[in-house]
Amino acid sequence: MRATSPERSGGEAPRRNTAAEARAAFAAWVGEAPEGRSFGQVIVRQTPEGYELRHAANVGVPDEELVVHGDPREAREIAKLTEEGEYRPLKSSPNLRRGWVLRVEDERGLYVAMNYLYPSGVVHWHLYRNGELEITNYRENAARQSGIYKRVQRLSDEGVQNAARACCEDAVCLKKTLWDVDENTPRLSEPGEGEIPCPEPCSIFVSFARRVRLFERENKRDLDAIGLSPSEKEDLSALVDAAATGSVEFAREAEFEEPLNERRMRYRKLTLVPKLRPDEDAATPDEG
Ligand code: SF4
Repeated sequence: MRATSPERSGGEAPRRNTAAEARAAFAAWVGEAPEGRSFGQVIVRQTPEGYELRHAANVGVPDEELVVHGDPREAREIAKLTEEGEYRPLKSSPNLRRGWVLRVEDERGLYVAMNYLYPSGVVHWHLYRNGELEITNYRENAARQSGIYKRVQRLSDEGVQNAARACCEDAVCLKKTLWDVDENTPRLSEPGEGEIPCPEPCSIFVSFARRVRLFERENKRDLDAIGLSPSEKEDLSALVDAAATGSVEFAREAEFEEPLNERRMRYRKLTLVPKLRPDEDAATPDEG
């Protein structure tokens, strides 16, 4: 991702430091709101000693009940694992753990901490507010893929739309999705309410798109007598098995090859449920 730079005159214009600009703009934005700003799942507040960051669910919780951190680099560990101890491959997923407060001295510390919690989030936020964030649509991104990901180039427009609804909406990712299918085909999923823009399909999305492309191929050639594909039957039996044992254990976040993956289930809600109940309107994956 390349941020647009100011035009150079005579080749000697001073180099622009986008990171420093973003750092100052973010600190000023936080400073303007005494009650703090919400960014992803974090509430950031200016204090007489610097800045304080905590999970939005921990606002008002006293220090004695939290783990108190004083080094911005400790945000890296905070962002790494979920409360259940699972690795978080997508830092914008709404599964940031609670139970901590981080205090930093200055805007540099704030920027370092935010970059661990939401990588590139502050720079993208700043460029977006200035109308300078470069957007890369799905087709353009897919054209750059190679190896096992090259097949995402053949994903249909409908497949991209369903993948975006299953993978990018606020229930599973807190970024505001800005990219479209291509310049003539707007994305139809909800962009999201958050402050952190998403200018381009991320690697998690591309991996999910690859899986959806496999589902599309199955649907073209491997349907059984009642119109179900092998992977649809695999998912249905995994669900029945799990329900019969009384515990549905979801697969890890990026394990799209596993039947009980949350994004994969959201995709099934969009594509399999209408097959099974053709008379009902398709609900969004978030609806009960
Ligand atoms: S592509 Fe989708 S899942 Fe990935 S960061 Fe953007 S909005 Fe989130």
